[in-house]
Amino acid sequence: MNYQEIINTQNAFYNTNATKDIPFRVKELKRLKSILQKNEGLLYQAIYRDFKKSKYETYTTELAIIYHEIDLALVNIKKWSKKKSVSTGLANLPARSYIMPEPFGTVLVMGAWNYPYQLSIVPAIAAIAAGCTVILKPSEIPSNSSSVMAKIISENFDPKFFKVIEGGVKETTELLKVKFDKIFFTGSIQVGKIIYQAAAKHLTPVTLELGGKSPAIVTKDVNIDMTAKRLVWAKFLNTGQTCIAPDYIMVESSVQDELLLAIKKHIESADYKIENQNYTQIVNQKNFERLQNFIEKDKIYYGGHCDADNRIISPTVMSGVTFSDKVMQEEIFGPILPVLSFDNIDKAIADIKTLSKPLSCYIFTKNKVVKNKILNEISFGGGAVNDAVMHFMEQNLPFGGVGDSGMGNYHGKAGFETFSHYKSILQKSFLIELNLKYSPYTSSKLKWLKRLIG
Ligand code: NAD
Repeated sequence: MNYQEIINTQNAFYNTNATKDIPFRVKELKRLKSILQKNEGLLYQAIYRDFKKSKYETYTTELAIIYHEIDLALVNIKKWSKKKSVSTGLANLPARSYIMPEPFGTVLVMGAWNYPYQLSIVPAIAAIAAGCTVILKPSEIPSNSSSVMAKIISENFDPKFFKVIEGGVKETTELLKVKFDKIFFTGSIQVGKIIYQAAAKHLTPVTLELGGKSPAIVTKDVNIDMTAKRLVWAKFLNTGQTCIAPDYIMVESSVQDELLLAIKKHIESADYKIENQNYTQIVNQKNFERLQNFIEKDKIYYGGHCDADNRIISPTVMSGVTFSDKVMQEEIFGPILPVLSFDNIDKAIADIKTLSKPLSCYIFTKNKVVKNKILNEISFGGGAVNDAVMHFMEQNLPFGGVGDSGMGNYHGKAGFETFSHYKSILQKSFLIELNLKYSPYTSSKLKWLKRLIG
């Protein structure tokens, strides 16, 4: 496939200004929603084939989020696209100043495998709403999900506007040689660095949605049962293959045993099984082996069963874990939950800060001082107090990382902004012209300038 030719075609289409038209964007967003709805059956089948993700979780954690993003964009697109007036300084009066969004142009969206539909299509929605043309490169790992997206989009969209390019490292390496106007990448820190370097060659702006070890900190004053219930759901959703899953728990030592018992109770009552629609396979053998390697037998508090033939790892809780253990050296991204304890919040914060800035942080506490201390002292992408993962669903909260967990953000208006350049315009009139800026530069002009400018 000649990628340069594909991008040339998209650039040419972009330059017709067709995508700058709001009704065009609205029509294309409506088309996207309707073709996804029409093909829901195929989408469910493909993702089930990839890692046995159920219809229920595919709807709630993928399609519902996509539909909501489309609806939100449709309602707000006119408002988001409006130029915004700002005040003008004395030196330029009479005049108007305003900021107007313009689409970046032809953009590349690259998705990760763990939520193959949502992580590919939600950024594409933002790009379409902002008026860009889009090349979408889904992850090749869930190959059925990738090819069903390619099929549905190629059958319903003009490739000069929206096209899926499938492929792995070889294809992506070639694709990244081409100049895009913006790259939006979701994936690992390691590949994020490759993307950033490739983009730098063309001075292409990037948004990087990466990962990291997201802590959940639990103090002794909370409702332990409800804390455990929320943490268990957040951790084992999608079998722990969630970028914002609580990676590990730091619990105040006096309530550690109580929390562990409550976690066990809630895992058992959820009864995680593929046939119960609440569990999936580990996506591939490589990840299965990587996860299996984290489990140290003498630290298993609960679970730890690994079925290599079916790539299933049961919900596993590890206790007595320290920051030097294997499981604490990299993002887990699977159904293993290490529990560490602390007696001193300052020491706990210092330990968390020895790791890279996480994508999320969850604070379970009723203690305002502790809450504010953690919010002020730990840098992380976003998070929740007394809950986990659910901040992702809030349409007014921009979603993204910081430091190693990423740069830039999206969801709702933030997504529109991510794919827009904000042009600053000063618009003067011909009514009068102050001669202060022109020579001859006299001392009385300087005096006036100093008064005007300060
Ligand atoms: P990945 O980095 O392996 O792959 C992501 C994309 O990069 C895929 O499209 C893949 O084809 C491509 N890719 C892989 N190797 C490449 C290379 N050498 N050169 C060019 N492109 C390459 O990530 P993944 O395994 O799909 O996802 C897991 C990671 O993504 C985790 O770290 C997780 O935390 C993170 N993640 C982050 C978010 C977020 O929103 N911040 C969401 C989901 C996953």
